[in-house]
Amino acid sequence: MTAAPAPICDRGLSVVVPVFNEEDGLDELMRRVEAACSERFPNDYEVLLVNDGSTDGSWAAICRHADAKPHVVGINLSRNHGHQLALAAGLEHVRGALVFVLDADLQDPPELLGTMADRIAEGADVVYGQRTARAGETAFKRGTASLFYRFLSSMVDVAIPRDTGDFRLMTRRVTEQLKAMPERYRFVRGMVSWIGFTQVAVPYERDARFAGQTNYPLRKMIALAIDAVTSFSTVPLRFASHLGMIFGVVGLLALGWVAAGWLSGEAVRGWTSLAALILVIGSVQLLVLGVFGEYLGRMYMEAKNRPLFIVDEIRTKAEVADAANPVHVLEGSISETFRKAAGE
Ligand code: UDP
Ligand code: MG
Repeated sequence: MTAAPAPICDRGLSVVVPVFNEEDGLDELMRRVEAACSERFPNDYEVLLVNDGSTDGSWAAICRHADAKPHVVGINLSRNHGHQLALAAGLEHVRGALVFVLDADLQDPPELLGTMADRIAEGADVVYGQRTARAGETAFKRGTASLFYRFLSSMVDVAIPRDTGDFRLMTRRVTEQLKAMPERYRFVRGMVSWIGFTQVAVPYERDARFAGQTNYPLRKMIALAIDAVTSFSTVPLRFASHLGMIFGVVGLLALGWVAAGWLSGEAVRGWTSLAALILVIGSVQLLVLGVFGEYLGRMYMEAKNRPLFIVDEIRTKAEVADAANPVHVLEGSISETFRKAAGE
């Protein structure tokens, strides 16, 4: 077996942005991202815009930027793969010592880059944005999000910080670990927590969307929540045995009660209670089967081992690193390089 090629690291910073139907906000996004990056990493950064099968003019807008500026890399996926896989596609192509992930809708202020890079320089490997306020989001979205984080933390062994999204700055060694995790059902913020190292929060106020509308309707939020729980916890599988035990005890008690009635000569008036019992037990069995099915289906999909995403085209004017353009190869303890790159 040949060893995988060493990852290229010839930039101080890579910014990864998944883009799905964000045509109207893209120019403003680039303006603010470029301003924030050139302040801290002048001429030493790249912006990877991953077009996740947009149906509007997002790809054309990305190409316009990529054709005009060598620090922009456009990655066009073959179809819509979903936010988390689009993110994985972007991470696969980063060349920076630090990796900055943010949403395309400017809900995450790129200006926080400086503060986050300071934390990295102080020794953190992951700096994640933690929302203190969310402008422009409905009470329903806020309520369900907070409920979700509380539910998740009760199920999962790794501590997944509350009220965080995928807005974070991380060192390349964390990114490489993330890339080495091959799972299809990705809950990236949980996976990053799982990786460990030093992770710190930076509080921020989440702005309203600059343009367009949310691509996370309730249906997708529920799907993400199920992904989160099933990829980090087998607690739901254990529900089956717990429920089985509870119903077993209840059944025994009921049996005793029926037997006592029979012995004392009182006929038990039974049809309604019997029907109710059968329905309850039947539905519990179906529920448990459904939970099993959820895990089994995921195992089936993972076992196929298909590629996570398919890239249609990579658009960039960036020079590919060569001998004239020296590359630091990532190996061993590299956090020093990262700290320097973070501008210590
Ligand atoms: N996104 C994506 N693919 C999708 C849905 C969303 O790449 O199928 C991107 C979207 O362009 C944005 C980010 O993921 O950059 C977050 O999406 P959105 O803002 O709609 O989610 P919300 O902030 O409402 O949770
Ligand atoms: Mg958003």
